Amino acid sequence: MPRKPVLQLSAVERHYGQAETTLSILTGADFTLHSGEIVALVAPSGTGKSTLLHLAGLLEHPDAGDVSIGGRSCNGLSDEERTAIRRDDIGFVYQFHHLLPEFTALENIMMPQLIAGLTKAEAAERAGQLLDYMRIGHRGDHRPSELSGGEQQRVAIARAVANAPRVLLADEPTGNLDPTTASYVFDALEALVRQSGLAALIATHNHDLAQRMDRRITLDAGKVVEM
Ligand code: ADP
Ligand code: MG
Repeated sequence: MPRKPVLQLSAVERHYGQAETTLSILTGADFTLHSGEIVALVAPSGTGKSTLLHLAGLLEHPDAGDVSIGGRSCNGLSDEERTAIRRDDIGFVYQFHHLLPEFTALENIMMPQLIAGLTKAEAAERAGQLLDYMRIGHRGDHRPSELSGGEQQRVAIARAVANAPRVLLADEPTGNLDPTTASYVFDALEALVRQSGLAALIATHNHDLAQRMDRRITLDAGKVVEM
């Protein structure tokens, strides 16, 4: 089966700064993520991993260049159109789970589906399936504060894929976990990505996890380089 590009960065630039000093973080980053593949983004702190993921996730605008999702250029799209793509096509996982504290695990996973227009019954059924798949079906009624770090991240991953996105972007999703828990959470993430055929770009400092992905990229002077 030909591999379809699901995420493309073309000559993406991002510069921070005011009049006096400019910090050039991305200086023409090119990258293609294909359906079904899991790619590790491995680079030292401060080199622009989060910046790249935020641009890819349409959370920020590039200063130059273009981001395409599912073959569709995102330059010139309205905020409403970008929001719709984020909701339907992109799942994002952060290092810290960013779950809503006053809602249960099940409700957190239901939320994006309710926003996308599913009924409560439909959202609850899919959320329950995802919890089971992540092997935390028995934790659905618990609030985030009652879950371990590994369980919180598994809920966050389930929430990110609840709307069956094309792309999963994860910013050091296991960076806050001990190595054994990190490996276990990554197992669950990998199984989910493989089973659903989506594509994932995962920033990590963990070289063992990076070795388990299909390919590895890094950032060098603001450009994407294959490792
Ligand atoms: P990484 O995720 O690889 O640690 P980041 O993408 O978070 O790197 O940051 C890259 C660089 O850009 C860092 O030096 C950081 O301080 C700087 N940076 C990030 N966001 C901003 C911002 N909004 N304003 C100014 N500088 C920023
Ligand atoms: Mg970062």
